[in-house]
Amino acid sequence: VTISFAIEAKDGDARAGHAVTASGRRFATPAFMPVGTRGVVRTLDSEDLLRTGAEIVLANTYHLMLRPGADAVAAVGGLHRFTGWEGPMLTDSGGFQVFSLPSGTVKVDDDGVTFRSAYDGSSHRLTPERAVEVQAMLGADVQMVLDVCPPLPSPPEVVRQAVERTAAWAARAKAAPRGEGQALFGIAQGGIDEALRAESASRTVEIGFDGYGIGGLSVGESREEMGPALAAAISALPADRIRYLMGVGDPARLVDAVAMGVDLFDCVLPTRHGRHGTVLTDAGRYNLSNARFRADPGPLDDACPCEVCQRSSRAYLRHLLSVQEPTGARLVTLHNLGWLLRFVADMRAAICEGSFGAFRTSTLAIWST
Ligand SMILES: [Zn+2]
Repeated sequence: VTISFAIEAKDGDARAGHAVTASGRRFATPAFMPVGTRGVVRTLDSEDLLRTGAEIVLANTYHLMLRPGADAVAAVGGLHRFTGWEGPMLTDSGGFQVFSLPSGTVKVDDDGVTFRSAYDGSSHRLTPERAVEVQAMLGADVQMVLDVCPPLPSPPEVVRQAVERTAAWAARAKAAPRGEGQALFGIAQGGIDEALRAESASRTVEIGFDGYGIGGLSVGESREEMGPALAAAISALPADRIRYLMGVGDPARLVDAVAMGVDLFDCVLPTRHGRHGTVLTDAGRYNLSNARFRADPGPLDDACPCEVCQRSSRAYLRHLLSVQEPTGARLVTLHNLGWLLRFVADMRAAICEGSFGAFRTSTLAIWST
């Protein structure tokens, strides 16, 4: 195993622990990964990320393999040196972005997927082996296998085929040579069909990985549909490995998933919201573009200890966003990311104190609508 994982406390099925990568980089769980789409969390640098409380960051293989190219990142010494982020990093396989491209630009077969670059229309191919090779050049601490992620809802035969290809590709990815010390996580698919979810998870576990992603959720289904599918996947996963629910970051789904024993998350939600003026607070979310904030001297969130809330008024931040000054997006992103990472740290503390049930109830009262 190239990533060690220890559980320190449990509250029901929720768990608090920590992971240490082969290079000695450590993060506490549950953990939320900000998304560094093109090798950067948009508008922030690595010092900013540290101040928000981020411990582990995700980078998108799809974008980096096209711009600047994985070879350029490797030539500079890998993603840590390239980005200046010294903490743990995880790369996705590129599959999720590729399968999200317009349907005329993607062609999938049993061997892999061919797609056109959104940058210049050039043709590229990803296979399970190539995804491992590209991620080895990028050099993050954790790699993800290439999987097939259908949108929801999809016809049953499409979800079944995604499960079959994901399993076959996982075995090929595991056999491919990767970077020294890099962990490799498998991914369970299966849509919202509970039996398929459990089957996909157990077939992934049979191949054997350092940790397990649960993919293809929060892609169009309701929170009520996600729960049973997630539970079915988790029931087939080993307790002593990290469980990573991919692409989920809204507080209601976070508490639901942590209650079932998920350890790791990523999502563009806090950063994308920040750029569009949607502010996350203890009382819920609001949009700063509302005219009532035009001359509001208060901070984004009264209770927030972040540097933005200490220094800047809603009136000022609303003004910066409305005249499209980049600093506006940057400051609201800093607040939002800080808020979400504190929320995740509070979940962890509640698990350790045995009060996670109450934490979940109060979170759902605000965020489940
Ligand atoms: Zn703040």
